[in-house]
Amino acid sequence: MARPGEFPNVLLVTVDCLRRDRLSAYGYPRQTTPFLDSLLEGALHCTSSHSAAPWTAPSVASLLTGLYPHSHGAGLLGGELKNLTRQNLPTSLSADIPILPDMLPGYSSAAFIGVWSAVLPLRGRLGEEHLMEKDAPKLVRAASKWMRAQEGPFFCWVHLGDAHDPLDPPRHLRDVFGPVDHKAARGWAFTGRDDDVSSEAFENYRADRVRLYDACVRGADEALAALWQGLEPATRDRTILTVTSDHGEEMWEHRDAELAVFADPRGLAGVGHGHNLFQVHLLVPLIVTGPGITAAAVDANTSSVDVMPTILEAAGTPATPTALDGHSLLSIPDDRPVVAEGIAYGYAKKTVVLGDHKLLSSPLDGYEQVFKLGKDRTEVGEIDDVALLRSLKTHLPPDPGPLGEASEADDEIADHLRGLGYIE
Ligand SMILES: [Zn+2]
Repeated sequence: MARPGEFPNVLLVTVDCLRRDRLSAYGYPRQTTPFLDSLLEGALHCTSSHSAAPWTAPSVASLLTGLYPHSHGAGLLGGELKNLTRQNLPTSLSADIPILPDMLPGYSSAAFIGVWSAVLPLRGRLGEEHLMEKDAPKLVRAASKWMRAQEGPFFCWVHLGDAHDPLDPPRHLRDVFGPVDHKAARGWAFTGRDDDVSSEAFENYRADRVRLYDACVRGADEALAALWQGLEPATRDRTILTVTSDHGEEMWEHRDAELAVFADPRGLAGVGHGHNLFQVHLLVPLIVTGPGITAAAVDANTSSVDVMPTILEAAGTPATPTALDGHSLLSIPDDRPVVAEGIAYGYAKKTVVLGDHKLLSSPLDGYEQVFKLGKDRTEVGEIDDVALLRSLKTHLPPDPGPLGEASEADDEIADHLRGLGYIE
């Protein structure tokens, strides 16, 4: 814990769409994350951490408020069949809900954001907001410059968009995991009902797509190393660094179920994020290191709502909001139910993970299923057990109360929406 008057800096990095299973240190065979791997030994890191939502806006609001989406009301869409478009944007966070930098007295704050949807629900809430291109080196240079210029303690949030579709890794890394047909693989394909996923063409495309995603993860890792190592050693010693993601990314794991069961207004299935709450959509790395943090590997189920209370306790700040959904990870938590919600495409869904079990519920799709989770924390089998279903159901989150504020897409946001293919 920092001594009074010596508050540490807080550097929060979110790598959009970074799946937990992509870390080499967690068993991925490619050398995707040498820098993140090097952090683990001295860090508190969670091996079963879940994003609170399957897409950016509600999830970053959870990271920065310590609240689940039904509690903070941000990043949510109206209507029964959810469909994120420029005409139908998610809610913004109400001004009366504090975010992490509000709880850090005397800190300067800034955000350097590579994906529009990360800043949309929090517009105007940070000291400075820089919505930038998905160009990690550029973003990192801007964040580094800002951090170096601060005289007192700072809160800096960097949101890297490298691993978000479309995939454009730095040129020197494009073929780092084997030659890739970049033009064909940078955007999604084989996403519809009529696409033949038993063809050789699909297998070739999928292999390229995965190589390209992995190259983007490596690019983000390289940018992160530059960000961290670019700080003066004395500044690093006074900085709590948190690295996590806002959600995972599906690569056809649940295509069959999604085609058979789940409505999607875009007619897509099996890829990306925002449309479902399987473990591939939710499992993210969560790594915290710096003053006040004791190194540990936490295997209990944790959630992105735990980030804010953990940082506040480590920073030793006097005021901690009492009614948070998250728990500080400085006392290793007992297993507790963690939930996720907040769909961008399709009917409202909820999930709860408790121990080695998970319930996924989508009432308007007529779907309710209990799963057993395997060692890698993904669904390894369906369980038909009425008593277990009933007991897990009691932990599902309530429906959101009145939604947060309406959001508007100014020209800057609209340009980013277009660049990411959200609107034509
Ligand atoms: Zn995202």
